[in-house]
Amino acid sequence: MQFIDLKTQQRQISGEIDLAINRVLEHGQYVLGPEVQQLEKQLASYCNASYAVSCANGTDALALALMALEIKPGDAVFCPSFTFVATAQVIPWLGALPVFVDIDPNTYNMDADSLENAILDTVSKNQLKPRAVIAVDLFGQSADYKAISRVTEKYGLTLISDNAQGFGCRLDGKSPTHWADIATTSFFPAKPLGCYGDGGAVFTNDKGIAERVESLRMYGKVMPSDLKEREFKFDSRYLSLRVGMNSRLDTIQAAILLEKLKIFEEEVERRQKIADRYSEELQNNVLQVPFTTANSLSVWAQYVIEHSDRDGLRAKLQDEGIPTAVYYPVPIHLQDFAIDYPREPNQLRVSEDKASRVIALPMHPYLLSQDQDRIIDVILNF
Ligand SMILES: *Cc1c(COP(=O)(O)O)cnc(C)c1O
Repeated sequence: MQFIDLKTQQRQISGEIDLAINRVLEHGQYVLGPEVQQLEKQLASYCNASYAVSCANGTDALALALMALEIKPGDAVFCPSFTFVATAQVIPWLGALPVFVDIDPNTYNMDADSLENAILDTVSKNQLKPRAVIAVDLFGQSADYKAISRVTEKYGLTLISDNAQGFGCRLDGKSPTHWADIATTSFFPAKPLGCYGDGGAVFTNDKGIAERVESLRMYGKVMPSDLKEREFKFDSRYLSLRVGMNSRLDTIQAAILLEKLKIFEEEVERRQKIADRYSEELQNNVLQVPFTTANSLSVWAQYVIEHSDRDGLRAKLQDEGIPTAVYYPVPIHLQDFAIDYPREPNQLRVSEDKASRVIALPMHPYLLSQDQDRIIDVILNF
C-alpha cells in the first residue's frame, strides 16, 4: 500500500502523457514553450483568477509574490507556524521577518484572532513594519479568508494565500484570490495537482503584480507595459529592470499538467468520497476526524486525524504495512532557523499541541476500497 500512489494515475493517462511530451520534443521550445502559456490560461480560468504566472516550484512562487510586493528588511510578514517550512523560509530571503501566528484547533488554518494579536503586538513593539500576511490552505482546505481579510483590511496589509496544498479548493464557491491579493501554488508530485518534477504558479487579479512576477521570474526582464511607460536606449531584450531570478516551469512539465488538469476534478471527487468514508467510519470519542468548514470544498491533499497515542497508532499501522506520515511534528517556531523569530504573544499553544497528536492516513484518488477497509479496521481495533 502507498501513502500517495502516483503510479496508478500515471498508468491510466500514460498514452496522453507520452504524446504530450513528444509534442514538446518535436517543437523543441523546452523553456517557455507554447504549452506554458496554454497552461497558464487554463490555470487562471480554473481558479477564477485574471492572471496565472507559472514558475519553477511553490517556494519560488511565494518568493516571487514577496518580491513583487517589494517586501524588504524591517518588514513583518505574518504566517502560521503549523505549516511546511517553505511558507516561513521565503520571508527572510527578502530580509524581512516572519511573525508566527497560531491556528484554529478545528481546521489547522490560521486563526484570525491570533493574527490580530500578533499584529497589535508587532505595532506596539515598534521595530517591524507589518506588511503582509501569508495564510495557508493546509491539507487542502481553504483558510478562513472571510475573517482573515477583515483583519488585513483593517490594518492595511497585503494578503497572500499559500495554496500549495489547496489548488482547486473553494470557500463559498470562490478561490482564494477572491480575497487574497496573490495566491501561490506548487505542482510538486505529491500535491493535489502534481507534475513529474518541480513546478509552481502565482495567481492574481492585479495586472501590475502579474507583470512584475513575470518579469521577476526571468531576471527582471522588460515587460510590454515597461515599454509603454519609458523609452530605452538599448535593445530591451537585453535589459534587466529589477533583481529577479531564474524560475520558470519547464515546457515538458506544462504539457504534463495540461493532461493532468483534464482529470483533476474527477480526482478531487474521488478524494472527497474517500475522505467521507474515513470520517463516517472513524468518528468516535478517541479520534478526531477532520473538520470541514461550511461551504468549503477541500481538495484533500492530506487526510489528517488526531489521536492521543499518535506514535503508538503509527507503529501499529506500520506493523500492518500501512504507511502514514506526520504533518507537522515540529511547528516552525521550534525549528533551529526560526527560534529567534517573533511570534504571537500567546506562544502558539494550539500549534504545539497539534504537532504531538496529528497523523496523516493514506490519501489519493486511487485508494482501493479493500485497502481503506483494512486501514479503518486497524485503527478501530487499536
Ligand atoms: C509544498 C509546499 C510549499 C512548497 O512547494 P515546493 O513546490 O515544494 O517548493 C510551500 N508551502 C506549502 C504549504 C507546501 O505544502
